[in-house]
This record gives sequence, C-alpha cells and structure tokens, in this order.
Amino acid sequence: MERSPVREDAVEKAFGRLEQTYAANRPKDDLERVRMAFEFAYAQHAGQLRKSGEPYIIHPVAVAQILADMNMDLVCIQTALLHDVVEDTSVTVEEIRRRFGNEVAVCVDGVTKLGKIHLYSREEQQAESVRKMLLAMVHDIRVILVKLSDRLHNLRTIGSLPRDKQNRIGQETLDIYAPIAHRLGMGKVRAELEDLAFGAIDPEAHSDIVSQIENKRKASQEFLEGIRKSLEQKLSRELIPSRVEGRLKRPYSVYVKLKKQKIPIEQVYDLLALRIITDSLKNCYAALGVIHNEWPPIPGRIKDFIAMPRPNGYQSLHTSVMGPGGQAFEVQIRTEEMHRLAEEGVAAHWKYKEGRRGKTTEEQYVTWMRQLVEWQQEMRDPGEFISTLKVDLYADEVYVFTPKGKVVVLPRESTPVDFAYAIHSDVGNACVGAKANNRIVPLKHALKNGDIVEILTQPGHMPSKDWLSFVKTSKARNKIKQIINATERSKAIEIGEKYFEKEARRLSIPISRLDESVLAQVLADYGVGKLEDLFANLGYGKIEARPILLRFALDRAAEEDKAAAELPPPPPLDKDARDLTLRVKGLNDVLIYRASCCNPLPGEAIVGYITRGKGVAVHSLNCTNVQNLLYEVERKIDVEWAKSHSENESFDVQISIMTDDRPGMLAQFTQVLFSESSNIRSLEARGDEERGGDGAIVEMKIEVRDKRQLEKILGALRRIPGVRDIERKS
Ligand code: MN
Repeated sequence: MERSPVREDAVEKAFGRLEQTYAANRPKDDLERVRMAFEFAYAQHAGQLRKSGEPYIIHPVAVAQILADMNMDLVCIQTALLHDVVEDTSVTVEEIRRRFGNEVAVCVDGVTKLGKIHLYSREEQQAESVRKMLLAMVHDIRVILVKLSDRLHNLRTIGSLPRDKQNRIGQETLDIYAPIAHRLGMGKVRAELEDLAFGAIDPEAHSDIVSQIENKRKASQEFLEGIRKSLEQKLSRELIPSRVEGRLKRPYSVYVKLKKQKIPIEQVYDLLALRIITDSLKNCYAALGVIHNEWPPIPGRIKDFIAMPRPNGYQSLHTSVMGPGGQAFEVQIRTEEMHRLAEEGVAAHWKYKEGRRGKTTEEQYVTWMRQLVEWQQEMRDPGEFISTLKVDLYADEVYVFTPKGKVVVLPRESTPVDFAYAIHSDVGNACVGAKANNRIVPLKHALKNGDIVEILTQPGHMPSKDWLSFVKTSKARNKIKQIINATERSKAIEIGEKYFEKEARRLSIPISRLDESVLAQVLADYGVGKLEDLFANLGYGKIEARPILLRFALDRAAEEDKAAAELPPPPPLDKDARDLTLRVKGLNDVLIYRASCCNPLPGEAIVGYITRGKGVAVHSLNCTNVQNLLYEVERKIDVEWAKSHSENESFDVQISIMTDDRPGMLAQFTQVLFSESSNIRSLEARGDEERGGDGAIVEMKIEVRDKRQLEKILGALRRIPGVRDIERKS
C-alpha cells in the first residue's frame, strides 16, 4: 500500500514503536499484516482529531501498543488498530472481514457493540447491557482485552474531556471495567484503570492521597532500602535465587482502605512492602522461612495464597513482620510465573496457551463468565442480577482464622458453617455451634475480617437442610446436599429392602440366598450397579418388587428340578417353554408356555400362573383349570401377547367335528382349511356308533395364527351342510 505522503511525526513514531514491540515479541509473525491494518485505519480516520487535538489514529495505535506490550496475538493487534473504524467511519464489518479475515471482523464487531452499550441508564437496561457485554466476552476473550485497553487509553487521555463526562467514564470504569479486569486476574490493568478513574472522579482526593503516600515513602525509603539489602544477602546466602523489589500500595486501594476502615495513613501497615520473586514454589516457602527467622511474624498476618489461590487465580505468600525499631512491613513472595499471572491474568494465559493441553485457567474464566450469563437468564429481576454481579466482581473475600492462626479465605457474608466445611467436610457435617472471637454466635452469623472462628462439633451429628438457606460457599452447599441426599437414600434403601422381603414372604419365595448370576442379570436389566441401588429404587417407588422376585423364583425352581437327578429330566424348556409370543408383563426372559389344557391362542384373554419348576403357564381366562388353580392368588401373574407376534407363527389347535356320515365331507373340510391357508397336522375320522349315533366324528389338529383365524375357520366349517357340531378340544 502506498504510504501517505504527509504523516505526522507523532503518528510515525507511535506506529514505529508498535512495530518494534510486536516484532520483538512475535518474530515469526508477518509484520506486514500489522502494517496493513494500520494503513487501512490511518486512511479511514484521516482528518479526524481527538478532543486533545491529536490525529485520531494515535488512539488505536496506543491501544494496540498496550496489547502488544502484553504480547497479544495478531488478531488482537489488528482488532485494536481497527476497533473504531466501523463506529466512526463508513467502513462495514463485511469489509473488515474481506480484508482481514473472519476473526478480526468478529472481534471488531464485538468491540463496536460493546461501545454502543450505555452502562449507565435505567437499571434493567444496565443488566441487559452487562449481559451483552458478558456474552461478547464469552464469545472471544480478545474482545474484552481490546475493550479494556481502549478504556485504559481513554482514561490516560481523559483530561481533555468535560468534567461530567470524566465523572461518568470514571464511575463506569470503577463499577464495571476494573472489576472485570480484576476477575480476569489482570492486576496491572486493573490497578491503572482504578487509579486513573479515581483521579478522573475526584482529582483532589487523588492528589491528596498521592502526596501522602509520597511523604510516607520518602520517610521510610532508607528503612526499606536497608531491609531490602539485608534480605538480598540472606537469600543469596541460603542459595535462594531471587530479586527483591520495593512495592508501594496504589493510591486507589489506599483511598478505599482509609475510607473503609476510617484510619489515618500511618495505620496502613501494607502501604510499603517488599516483593520477593524467586524461581520455584519450594523457594517461596524457603524465603518465608528466612524472613521469619530474621524478623518475628505478626500473628494472623500470614496468608498463603499459593495453597489457597484467590478466586481470580492470584497466588503469592504474604506475611507482615516486625522490623527493626518496631516498624512493621509486609513481604510478598512469589515465583516469576505467579508474578506474571498476577500482573497479566487471562492475557498471560492467552499467549502461553498455544501448544498446551488440559484445562487452562482461561477456560476457568470463561466458565465463570458463562455461569454469570446463566444466572442472569435465571433471574427475572434485573436488580438482583446486578447485585449478584457486584458481589461476585467485587468478591471482597473475608479473611478469618482458625484458633491455631491458619488463614481461611471465604466469600463475603460467609457463615461459620462455610468455615467449618472449608476446614474439612467432617468438621462441617458434625458442626453444632460456633464461636467467633471466643463468643458463641449463631451458625448463620456473617463472619467478619479477622474473626477467629472455632467450630463446636458433636460426633455423628448430621447437617440440617436449613443450612442450605444461608451458606455462601459452593463447597458447603454441595457437601450438605450430598449428605442430605445420602440420608434420604439410605432411608429409601431400608424401605426398599423391607418391601422386597415382605413381598417375598407373600409369594413364598425364599430370598436368604439370591443366585449371583440371576442377580447380576436383574441389576443389569434395571440399569443399576448394586443390590443396594435396586432397593433404593424400590424404596423410592420407582420399580415393583414382584417381577424381580419372580425372576429369582423361576430360576430357583428350574435349579431344583435339575438337582433332582433321580427324576427323569424335565421336558426341554426350549421353544415350547420359552414361548416368544407371550410375555410376563414388564418382564422379559422369563420361562413361559401355553398351558396344554386350554392352549390359548394369540388374541384370547389369558392369565399366567407361576408353576413350580416350569416357569409361567399361560391359560385362557375361561379355562376351567384356571378357576381351580387361581385360589392361590399370589401365584397369579399378568401376562400379555407380545406385540411382535409374527405373521408366520402358528399354533396347533385340536378340534373335533360331529357330522353326517356321507362321502365328500372330508374334501369340504380340507377345502375350507386350504382357503384359509391353514395346515392340517393330523386327521382321524371314525363312526360315532359308540355314542349310539349314525354320523361320524372327525378329529383334526390344525394350524392357526390366532383366535380370529380359528373363529373364521370354525364358522366356515359350521356352514357346511351336514356338520352338526364342532368342539375345540385344546
Ligand atoms: Mn476507542
């Protein structure tokens, strides 16, 4: 692309610096693509000026510089350069897509949309806006990284805006953007956003705090410098590779502390601190030992954020010690990696994630944001969402202590029950009371910073359902729910087992020893792992005991028969016994057969009867035997014709026809059966002299599909002249 002939020096310089930073950080990337985005933005913003009078392009270049300093990728840098093009010029997202690809277009679109959201309007609109913002973030985290950098540069140059606008932007930054940066672990960006916003909202208070800090720094510079040197020596003597830096508490956090705790700056003990950055986790604790060996630690001020990282992933060891001359100071200890994460948060994860496997912290951030969006959708009341969001974003943790001085970090408003579960599940479960600072407090008491909490336990005590209404941590909530569910489950198991035994007695089925292989099959059929689960389902009333018991009964009966070796073997329970057209209701794989006495056909009303040793016999409901058999009501069982009854399957039926004895009768019978495509299995004709008659009796075994076909055949036979009567034998 042709270079613009007149390009302001400042712009040239700013872009030159961006190119340098980018080339140094990402030597493998194509620098030309950064330049293309710059040239395009430059051309589009040509002639536009910022409020400060500078050429507009200075702003996107500066935003890109912030991101390049964080080592962000090409898409991010291009997005930064182009982020105001769609909003402020005639360029469309489509054109961006054509020139710079889909990813850049999506990100530019996201940033543009975020810019259009007015975070300060009516509350419900605000909730909606925040939701949109979060959705945008969930879509691509780079959108929010560009937006935060955009806000950062705008704040750096906010001086040229009118007061009321400064105020609004400052407040919005403190309420929304800084907390998001904090939640994303971006300590450095958050700090600068807060301090700039503070200065924009209340310039007087800001400069007052700054000068107070400066005075304090000057006064203790010598002291700290002495400590730093001595610390460096001791660490190198112990062979702990490290660098020691002085750290000054930032104006905005000093301001908040002074306001919240209503104390003078002299009492801000962590105003000045030293920071040790070492090479390994092991050396963090080693350095802590070196410090405590030299200066006595102030009880209760040791915080192990390595073992217990803050919700945003921050890790460090903090301790306050008593220095020479009774002057206390704070030391923070961390590894290089922890330091980088504390400063850059999600941005650090983003740039190192290439080539990494497993769940990254960035994914955890995304999970957190998704969760927020879900909450928002669940909450009908927008005000409620905003307050939840604020609680979560400001996640002011409460720091409390065990009686032994161990720090426990909990979300704000946490209760002794949360504390108890944070210590150990067993402590939580057995918790019956609590003391804060040696005084008995209710279990739903909101803990305060610095409380020394003691939990009173009683072995065997169980958590109460009410606790769910006041606990704040998900750990406590989950554990309580687990226990309650488990308790309900054990009740269900008990009930289920009793029901099973009672039903077994009713059916006279011994269950003292359940057959292992049948049990395994039953469990598999019900989709459960253990007998206990089966009982639980029985107890919850999800399943019935009877079909299960029958499975065991039938199996046992079959085995008894097998065991009776002196008896002739029972008829093979193959095709006939395992009659596929019949089934016990709700149960497969049970031995079942049609009783030969009534030989029921598909379609006939039937009833099952549990026999000893042969499975379930199925009788026609009007079978005379049934009336006699069914006095043992408990052996009756519902059966049904299987739906899958196939067309080709047929059943033998024995009929006997009383007829005139004349030639041609048999031919007519076979004609009827032929036209019904029924086979004759056997046929026997004889005179009925023994009955004292003059006719004949024809006994036939025929094949039918079902009741309907039989009825049709019998009807046709009856219509043949000379047929006197027909009887179904079986
Ligand atoms: Mn902008």
